[in-house]
Amino acid sequence: AVNPPVQRVSTLLLSKVSELYGTEIQTYGLEGMAVHRTLEQALMEIEGGAAVQLVPSGLAACTLPFFALCKSGDHVLVSDSVYGPTRRFCDRLLKNMGVETTYFAPRIEAAALADLIRANTKLLFLESPGSLTFEIHDTKALTDVARARGLKSAIDNTWSAGVFFKPFEHGVDISIQALTKYQAGHADVLMGAILSADKAIAAQIKQTSKDIGFGVSPDEAYLALRGLRTMHIRLKQHDATAREVAAWLATRPEVAQVLHPALPNSPDHALWKRDFTGAAGLFGVVLKPCSEAQLAAMLEGYKHFGLGFSWGGYESLVIPCDPQVKRSATTWTAEGPLLRYS
Ligand SMILES: *Cc1c(COP(=O)(O)O)cnc(C)c1O
Repeated sequence: AVNPPVQRVSTLLLSKVSELYGTEIQTYGLEGMAVHRTLEQALMEIEGGAAVQLVPSGLAACTLPFFALCKSGDHVLVSDSVYGPTRRFCDRLLKNMGVETTYFAPRIEAAALADLIRANTKLLFLESPGSLTFEIHDTKALTDVARARGLKSAIDNTWSAGVFFKPFEHGVDISIQALTKYQAGHADVLMGAILSADKAIAAQIKQTSKDIGFGVSPDEAYLALRGLRTMHIRLKQHDATAREVAAWLATRPEVAQVLHPALPNSPDHALWKRDFTGAAGLFGVVLKPCSEAQLAAMLEGYKHFGLGFSWGGYESLVIPCDPQVKRSATTWTAEGPLLRYS
Protein backbone atom coordinates (compact mmCIF):
# COMPACT_ATOMS: atom_id res chain seq x y z
CA ALA A 1 0.00 0.00 0.00
CA VAL A 2 1.28 3.48 -0.73
CA ASN A 3 -0.56 4.77 2.34
CA PRO A 4 0.14 3.98 6.00
CA PRO A 5 -2.32 1.73 7.83
CA VAL A 6 -4.93 3.28 10.12
CA GLN A 7 -4.36 1.39 13.37
CA ARG A 8 -6.77 1.92 16.26
CA VAL A 9 -4.58 1.32 19.27
CA SER A 10 -4.55 1.72 23.01
CA THR A 11 -2.64 -1.44 23.94
CA LEU A 12 0.58 -2.56 22.33
CA LEU A 13 1.98 -6.00 23.16
CA LEU A 14 5.64 -6.20 24.08
CA SER A 15 7.65 -9.36 23.88
CA LYS A 16 9.89 -8.88 26.91
CA VAL A 17 9.35 -7.70 30.49
CA SER A 18 12.44 -5.53 30.11
CA GLU A 19 10.69 -3.58 27.33
CA LEU A 20 7.79 -2.44 29.54
CA TYR A 21 9.56 0.34 31.43
CA GLY A 22 12.29 2.85 30.83
CA THR A 23 13.23 2.12 27.22
CA GLU A 24 12.76 4.07 24.01
CA ILE A 25 10.37 1.39 22.72
CA GLN A 26 6.79 2.60 22.24
CA THR A 27 4.63 0.96 24.88
CA TYR A 28 1.22 2.59 24.47
CA GLY A 29 -1.02 3.94 21.70
CA LEU A 30 -1.42 7.51 22.96
CA GLU A 31 1.47 8.89 20.92
CA GLY A 32 0.05 7.44 17.72
CA MET A 33 1.14 4.95 15.12
CA ALA A 34 2.29 4.80 11.50
CA VAL A 35 -0.24 7.29 10.16
CA HIS A 36 0.77 9.85 12.76
CA ARG A 37 4.46 9.38 11.95
CA THR A 38 3.75 9.77 8.22
CA LEU A 39 1.79 12.98 8.81
CA GLU A 40 4.54 14.39 11.06
CA GLN A 41 7.17 13.57 8.46
CA ALA A 42 5.16 15.26 5.72
CA LEU A 43 4.70 18.40 7.83
CA MET A 44 8.46 18.55 8.44
CA GLU A 45 9.13 18.19 4.73
CA ILE A 46 7.05 21.32 4.18
CA GLU A 47 8.24 23.51 7.03
CA GLY A 48 11.46 21.94 8.34
CA GLY A 49 12.26 21.55 12.02
CA ALA A 50 13.49 18.72 14.22
CA ALA A 51 10.18 17.19 15.31
CA VAL A 52 6.40 17.61 15.17
CA GLN A 53 3.87 17.12 17.95
CA LEU A 54 0.29 16.46 16.86
CA VAL A 55 -2.45 17.68 19.20
CA PRO A 56 -6.27 17.52 19.09
CA SER A 57 -6.89 21.08 17.86
CA GLY A 58 -5.17 24.17 16.54
CA LEU A 59 -5.93 25.91 19.80
CA ALA A 60 -4.22 23.12 21.76
CA ALA A 61 -1.18 23.70 19.52
CA CYS A 62 -1.26 27.40 20.49
CA THR A 63 -1.52 26.77 24.24
CA LEU A 64 0.85 23.80 24.66
CA PRO A 65 4.08 25.84 24.18
CA PHE A 66 3.08 28.07 27.12
CA PHE A 67 2.65 24.99 29.34
CA ALA A 68 5.94 23.58 28.09
CA LEU A 69 8.06 26.71 28.56
CA CYS A 70 6.47 28.66 31.44
CA LYS A 71 5.97 28.15 35.13
CA SER A 72 4.37 30.20 37.88
CA GLY A 73 6.07 33.58 38.23
CA ASP A 74 7.07 33.82 34.58
CA HIS A 75 6.13 36.43 32.01
CA VAL A 76 5.28 36.16 28.30
CA LEU A 77 5.04 38.60 25.39
CA VAL A 78 2.09 38.09 23.05
CA SER A 79 1.09 39.98 19.93
CA ASP A 80 -1.97 42.18 20.34
CA SER A 81 -3.29 40.74 17.06
CA VAL A 82 -3.24 37.14 18.30
CA TYR A 83 -6.04 34.63 17.57
CA GLY A 84 -8.90 35.38 20.01
CA PRO A 85 -8.94 32.05 21.89
CA THR A 86 -5.14 32.22 22.40
CA ARG A 87 -5.66 35.60 24.03
CA ARG A 88 -8.50 34.19 26.13
CA PHE A 89 -6.15 31.40 27.29
CA CYS A 90 -3.52 33.98 28.33
CA ASP A 91 -6.08 36.12 30.14
CA ARG A 92 -7.70 33.26 32.03
CA LEU A 93 -5.87 29.96 32.47
CA LEU A 94 -2.32 31.25 32.07
CA LYS A 95 -3.02 34.12 34.44
CA ASN A 96 -4.51 31.73 37.02
CA MET A 97 -1.33 29.65 36.72
CA GLY A 98 0.64 32.73 37.75
CA VAL A 99 2.07 33.64 34.36
CA GLU A 100 1.71 37.27 33.35
CA THR A 101 1.08 38.35 29.75
CA THR A 102 2.15 41.63 28.17
CA TYR A 103 0.60 42.30 24.77
CA PHE A 104 2.66 44.23 22.25
CA ALA A 105 1.75 46.14 19.10
CA PRO A 106 1.96 43.80 16.08
CA ARG A 107 4.09 46.36 14.20
CA ILE A 108 6.43 46.96 17.16
CA GLU A 109 10.08 47.72 16.40
CA ALA A 110 12.79 45.47 17.80
CA ALA A 111 14.11 48.11 20.24
CA ALA A 112 10.64 48.68 21.72
CA LEU A 113 10.15 44.94 22.10
CA ALA A 114 13.48 44.70 23.91
CA ASP A 115 12.17 47.23 26.46
CA LEU A 116 9.30 44.86 27.32
CA ILE A 117 11.55 41.92 28.12
CA ARG A 118 12.02 41.20 31.83
CA ALA A 119 14.31 38.82 33.70
CA ASN A 120 11.41 36.33 33.96
CA THR A 121 10.19 36.61 30.34
CA LYS A 122 10.14 33.12 28.83
CA LEU A 123 8.23 33.25 25.56
CA LEU A 124 7.61 35.59 22.65
CA PHE A 125 4.37 34.58 20.92
CA LEU A 126 3.76 35.83 17.39
CA GLU A 127 1.04 35.47 14.79
CA SER A 128 1.64 36.82 11.31
CA PRO A 129 -0.49 37.97 9.69
CA GLY A 130 -2.99 38.32 12.53
CA SER A 131 -5.93 36.20 11.45
CA LEU A 132 -8.50 38.99 11.89
CA THR A 133 -6.63 42.21 11.22
CA PHE A 134 -3.75 40.97 9.03
CA GLU A 135 -0.80 42.91 10.47
CA ILE A 136 2.52 41.30 9.56
CA HIS A 137 5.44 41.18 12.02
CA ASP A 138 9.02 41.90 11.16
CA THR A 139 9.60 38.40 12.48
CA LYS A 140 13.37 38.12 12.14
CA ALA A 141 13.97 41.45 13.88
CA LEU A 142 11.77 40.36 16.80
CA THR A 143 13.22 36.85 17.15
CA ASP A 144 16.76 38.30 17.04
CA VAL A 145 15.92 40.32 20.13
CA ALA A 146 14.31 37.31 21.83
CA ARG A 147 17.30 35.10 21.07
CA ALA A 148 19.79 37.68 22.31
CA ARG A 149 17.89 37.88 25.60
CA GLY A 150 17.54 34.11 26.01
CA LEU A 151 13.82 33.68 25.48
CA LYS A 152 12.10 31.29 23.10
CA SER A 153 9.79 32.38 20.33
CA ALA A 154 6.69 30.74 18.86
CA ILE A 155 4.58 31.75 15.89
CA ASP A 156 1.05 30.79 14.89
CA ASN A 157 1.84 30.16 11.23
CA THR A 158 -1.58 28.82 10.25
CA TRP A 159 -2.27 31.51 7.62
CA SER A 160 0.70 30.50 5.50
CA ALA A 161 0.02 26.75 6.00
CA GLY A 162 3.78 26.46 6.45
CA VAL A 163 4.13 26.87 2.68
CA PHE A 164 4.30 30.64 2.16
CA PHE A 165 6.31 31.49 5.28
CA LYS A 166 9.17 29.50 6.81
CA PRO A 167 9.48 30.41 10.51
CA PHE A 168 12.73 28.53 11.11
CA GLU A 169 14.45 30.69 8.51
CA HIS A 170 13.34 33.73 10.53
CA GLY A 171 14.78 32.61 13.86
CA VAL A 172 11.55 31.19 15.34
CA ASP A 173 11.85 28.23 17.74
CA ILE A 174 8.30 26.87 17.50
CA SER A 175 5.90 26.95 14.56
CA ILE A 176 2.22 26.29 15.17
CA GLN A 177 -0.27 25.02 12.62
CA ALA A 178 -4.03 24.60 12.95
CA LEU A 179 -4.18 21.58 10.63
CA THR A 180 -7.94 22.09 10.79
CA LYS A 181 -7.48 24.73 8.11
CA TYR A 182 -5.60 24.11 4.85
CA GLN A 183 -3.88 20.83 5.70
CA ALA A 184 -7.09 18.93 6.44
CA GLY A 185 -8.71 21.22 3.93
CA HIS A 186 -12.28 19.93 3.89
CA ALA A 187 -13.91 21.37 7.04
CA ASP A 188 -14.21 17.93 8.61
CA VAL A 189 -11.19 17.62 10.92
CA LEU A 190 -9.91 19.43 14.02
CA MET A 191 -6.19 19.05 14.67
CA GLY A 192 -3.07 21.01 15.49
CA ALA A 193 0.67 20.60 15.04
CA ILE A 194 3.65 22.07 16.87
CA LEU A 195 6.91 22.05 14.93
CA SER A 196 10.10 22.57 16.90
CA ALA A 197 13.30 24.02 15.49
CA ASP A 198 15.56 21.81 17.56
CA LYS A 199 15.52 18.56 19.51
CA ALA A 200 15.71 20.15 22.96
CA ILE A 201 12.50 22.16 22.51
CA ALA A 202 10.85 19.22 20.78
CA ALA A 203 11.55 17.05 23.83
CA GLN A 204 9.95 19.66 26.13
CA ILE A 205 6.89 19.90 23.87
CA LYS A 206 6.54 16.13 23.64
CA GLN A 207 6.87 15.58 27.38
CA THR A 208 4.29 18.30 28.09
CA SER A 209 1.83 16.80 25.62
CA LYS A 210 2.33 13.45 27.34
CA ASP A 211 1.86 15.02 30.78
CA ILE A 212 -1.40 16.65 29.69
CA GLY A 213 -2.51 13.46 27.98
CA PHE A 214 -3.18 14.64 24.46
CA GLY A 215 -3.84 12.04 21.81
CA VAL A 216 -4.95 12.26 18.19
CA SER A 217 -7.22 9.67 16.58
CA PRO A 218 -5.70 7.70 13.68
CA ASP A 219 -8.78 8.35 11.55
CA GLU A 220 -8.39 12.09 11.99
CA ALA A 221 -4.65 11.91 11.35
CA TYR A 222 -5.39 9.95 8.19
CA LEU A 223 -7.83 12.62 7.01
CA ALA A 224 -5.29 15.37 7.70
CA LEU A 225 -2.64 13.43 5.77
CA ARG A 226 -5.06 12.85 2.92
CA GLY A 227 -5.87 16.55 2.82
CA LEU A 228 -2.19 17.41 2.83
CA ARG A 229 -1.65 15.46 -0.41
CA THR A 230 -3.54 18.11 -2.37
CA MET A 231 -2.77 21.15 -0.25
CA HIS A 232 -0.23 22.79 -2.55
CA ILE A 233 -2.64 22.72 -5.48
CA ARG A 234 -5.57 23.91 -3.41
CA LEU A 235 -3.48 26.71 -1.93
CA LYS A 236 -2.57 28.03 -5.37
CA GLN A 237 -6.24 28.23 -6.26
CA HIS A 238 -7.22 29.75 -2.90
CA ASP A 239 -4.54 32.39 -3.41
CA ALA A 240 -5.53 33.22 -7.00
CA THR A 241 -9.26 33.32 -6.27
CA ALA A 242 -8.91 35.36 -3.08
CA ARG A 243 -6.69 37.94 -4.80
CA GLU A 244 -9.29 38.31 -7.53
CA VAL A 245 -12.17 38.71 -5.07
CA ALA A 246 -10.12 41.04 -2.85
CA ALA A 247 -9.11 43.20 -5.82
CA TRP A 248 -12.74 43.42 -6.91
CA LEU A 249 -13.89 44.32 -3.40
CA ALA A 250 -11.28 47.11 -3.36
CA THR A 251 -13.11 48.75 -6.28
CA ARG A 252 -16.49 48.75 -4.51
CA PRO A 253 -17.91 52.02 -3.19
CA GLU A 254 -19.09 50.26 0.03
CA VAL A 255 -15.51 49.25 0.91
CA ALA A 256 -13.17 51.52 2.90
CA GLN A 257 -10.12 49.22 2.88
CA VAL A 258 -9.11 45.71 1.91
CA LEU A 259 -6.67 43.98 4.26
CA HIS A 260 -4.99 41.52 1.93
CA PRO A 261 -1.18 41.56 2.26
CA ALA A 262 -0.64 40.68 -1.41
CA LEU A 263 -2.53 43.75 -2.64
CA PRO A 264 -0.03 46.59 -3.17
CA ASN A 265 -2.21 49.14 -1.34
CA SER A 266 -2.62 46.93 1.68
CA PRO A 267 -0.88 47.67 4.99
CA ASP A 268 2.32 45.63 5.45
CA HIS A 269 2.51 44.71 1.77
CA ALA A 270 6.27 45.40 1.75
CA LEU A 271 6.94 43.02 4.65
CA TRP A 272 4.74 40.36 3.06
CA LYS A 273 6.64 40.71 -0.20
CA ARG A 274 9.97 40.41 1.58
CA ASP A 275 9.09 37.39 3.74
CA PHE A 276 6.27 35.42 2.08
CA THR A 277 6.11 33.49 -1.19
CA GLY A 278 2.33 33.52 -1.54
CA ALA A 279 -0.91 34.36 0.20
CA ALA A 280 -3.69 32.38 1.82
CA GLY A 281 -7.31 32.75 0.75
CA LEU A 282 -8.15 34.56 3.98
CA PHE A 283 -8.35 38.35 4.07
CA GLY A 284 -10.13 41.25 5.73
CA VAL A 285 -12.36 44.02 4.48
CA VAL A 286 -13.27 47.24 6.28
CA LEU A 287 -16.59 48.57 5.10
CA LYS A 288 -17.66 52.17 5.09
CA PRO A 289 -20.00 52.90 7.99
CA CYS A 290 -23.41 51.23 7.65
CA SER A 291 -26.19 50.10 9.96
CA GLU A 292 -26.23 46.70 11.65
CA ALA A 293 -29.36 45.87 9.70
CA GLN A 294 -27.66 46.69 6.39
CA LEU A 295 -24.65 44.59 7.33
CA ALA A 296 -26.82 41.62 8.39
CA ALA A 297 -28.84 41.90 5.17
CA MET A 298 -25.68 41.74 3.08
CA LEU A 299 -24.14 38.83 5.01
CA GLU A 300 -27.37 36.82 5.12
CA GLY A 301 -28.05 37.54 1.47
CA TYR A 302 -24.86 36.04 0.05
CA LYS A 303 -25.34 33.10 -2.33
CA HIS A 304 -21.73 31.92 -2.34
CA PHE A 305 -20.47 32.83 1.14
CA GLY A 306 -21.66 30.97 4.23
CA LEU A 307 -21.73 32.66 7.62
CA GLY A 308 -19.40 30.58 9.77
CA PHE A 309 -16.19 30.31 11.77
CA SER A 310 -12.98 28.57 10.73
CA TRP A 311 -11.57 28.51 7.19
CA GLY A 312 -9.35 26.50 4.87
CA GLY A 313 -12.10 24.14 3.71
CA TYR A 314 -13.65 23.93 0.26
CA GLU A 315 -16.45 26.37 1.06
CA SER A 316 -16.42 30.17 0.92
CA LEU A 317 -17.07 31.87 4.24
CA VAL A 318 -17.52 35.32 5.67
CA ILE A 319 -17.84 36.61 9.23
CA PRO A 320 -18.13 40.03 10.83
CA CYS A 321 -15.10 40.25 13.16
CA ASP A 322 -15.56 43.29 15.38
CA PRO A 323 -16.80 41.31 18.43
CA GLN A 324 -13.62 39.19 18.21
CA VAL A 325 -11.07 42.02 17.96
CA LYS A 326 -9.71 42.55 21.48
CA ARG A 327 -6.87 45.02 21.99
CA SER A 328 -4.85 46.34 24.91
CA ALA A 329 -1.43 47.44 23.56
CA THR A 330 -3.02 49.17 20.58
CA THR A 331 -6.50 50.30 19.63
CA TRP A 332 -8.25 48.91 16.61
CA THR A 333 -9.76 51.84 14.75
CA ALA A 334 -11.55 51.33 11.47
CA GLU A 335 -13.91 53.48 9.50
CA GLY A 336 -16.66 50.83 9.60
CA PRO A 337 -17.34 47.14 10.22
CA LEU A 338 -14.52 44.61 9.78
CA LEU A 339 -15.32 41.46 7.79
CA ARG A 340 -13.21 38.43 7.10
CA TYR A 341 -13.58 36.46 3.89
CA SER A 342 -12.28 32.97 3.19
C1 LIG B 1 -8.41 28.22 13.55
C2 LIG B 1 -7.20 28.79 14.11
C3 LIG B 1 -6.63 28.26 15.26
C4 LIG B 1 -7.27 27.16 16.05
O1 LIG B 1 -7.52 25.98 15.33
P1 LIG B 1 -8.67 24.99 15.81
O2 LIG B 1 -8.27 23.69 15.22
O3 LIG B 1 -9.95 25.53 15.26
O4 LIG B 1 -8.65 24.97 17.31
C5 LIG B 1 -5.47 28.83 15.73
N1 LIG B 1 -4.90 29.86 15.09
C6 LIG B 1 -5.40 30.39 13.97
C7 LIG B 1 -4.70 31.52 13.32
C8 LIG B 1 -6.57 29.89 13.45
O5 LIG B 1 -7.10 30.43 12.35
